[in-house]
Amino acid sequence: MDTIRLGAVTIDRIVETEGLGFYPGFLFPQADLEALHDEAHWLAPQFFDPGSGRLRQSLHGFLIRTPRHTVLLDTCVGNDKPRPSSRAWHMQDLPWLETLQKAGARPEAIDVVLCTHLHVDHVGWNTRLQNSRWVPTFPNARYLFHRTEYAYWEATREMDPSIGYGRTENSFEDSILPVEEAGLVELVDDGYRIDEFLTVTLMAGHSPGHIVLNVHGEDGTVRGIFTGDILHHPIQCAYPNWNSRYCLDAEAARRSRNGLVDQCVDADRLIFPTHFAAPTAGRITSAGTRARFSPE
Ligand SMILES: [Zn+2]
Repeated sequence: MDTIRLGAVTIDRIVETEGLGFYPGFLFPQADLEALHDEAHWLAPQFFDPGSGRLRQSLHGFLIRTPRHTVLLDTCVGNDKPRPSSRAWHMQDLPWLETLQKAGARPEAIDVVLCTHLHVDHVGWNTRLQNSRWVPTFPNARYLFHRTEYAYWEATREMDPSIGYGRTENSFEDSILPVEEAGLVELVDDGYRIDEFLTVTLMAGHSPGHIVLNVHGEDGTVRGIFTGDILHHPIQCAYPNWNSRYCLDAEAARRSRNGLVDQCVDADRLIFPTHFAAPTAGRITSAGTRARFSPE
């Protein structure tokens, strides 16, 4: 997606990696994959590669500029982080900060960092390695996390890694705690307002305190929603009951996803998910008995 303008707010996608991703049966272990082939006529080739049978995915954050704030939403995997369970993410070395700078923001210019949730692929650039220590990448930012999300990962980081998500891989220690120790963390609740253009809504289920960020127009109506991992892939617009393997509370995740799809379908409301392949932004539109994703 090119820069998108929603009223007075501009939005840029800051890509860390994109391309062929998971096999659908891995990401959606409980789904009937025949359905994917029924929807291939609108999913391929942008979101599904029939040749390899793999999903096309992206990992990115968003730079969001309002007249009052420069906001970064979701900070990907990050560089130099030991993530032994993922070959692609382990000790990564990618020019994400340069991409951010090309979009017009130096790290010092970021006022607010918001993580939709605290999974390992949404918090990485919160910190960077400097003289063998993890330091906040955005020294002038307030880092906003939902209170319930923070409490959950703080309490469970000592737990058996086979429980729950199980793949935080010290991301709380290297990407959250150094920011907390620097005094930059602000814990927020449902309804939190960054300014008149941006508000937060709790949509729990994928994780206990998953939040989405709403973009408001001049008249206050919601014109766009940064949906984090409520939707992992466009097929979930057609099948909102499909949970990804990373959804922690199956029932709550379905409830949140169905609620999101219901409020967006055929509405004048763009969605900005964190893992949809380019062009990423789009609308949910009705098509026969099922909704689909229509990229902008
Ligand atoms: Zn994710």
